[in-house]
Amino acid sequence: MEAKTNDQYRAFLQEIAAAEKQVSALEDREIVLMEHVESAKKIITEREAELKEEEDGVAEEKEMLEERLSEVNEDLEKLVADRGRITSTINPSLLAKYDRLFKNKGDFAVVQVEGNHCSGCHMKLPPQVTNDALNPDKLVICNFCGRMLINLR
Ligand SMILES: [Zn+2]
Repeated sequence: MEAKTNDQYRAFLQEIAAAEKQVSALEDREIVLMEHVESAKKIITEREAELKEEEDGVAEEKEMLEERLSEVNEDLEKLVADRGRITSTINPSLLAKYDRLFKNKGDFAVVQVEGNHCSGCHMKLPPQVTNDALNPDKLVICNFCGRMLINLR
């Protein structure tokens, strides 16, 4: 009976030792995991700081662009008003012709005669056209590209 009790006692001691070993291993593992958590927290804090810096930069840039956009819109409003004022004195059918030509060519509707060439299409103009373009009251059209010609020579 007593021998049996001693065996049991030893068995208990062994079980306790094994359990303590397991607890110790789990505690070591817990320490390692806590270290991982700490370093992950540190990385998150660093990344959050970087993100905040980036967000501040983007916000600053956005503010600058919005300011620039509002300046450009103001300039545009002024230019549209100027155009309205300037074109109000122009013959409406001539203005419509100019607008169509400008839209069609995509660059200039009115070009200068340079030497005896159209500066829009660089084709050589007949002497009569070059001469007619000297008169600012006359509407002279390039035979080749259709742009309005002025001769300031
Ligand atoms: Zn031309």
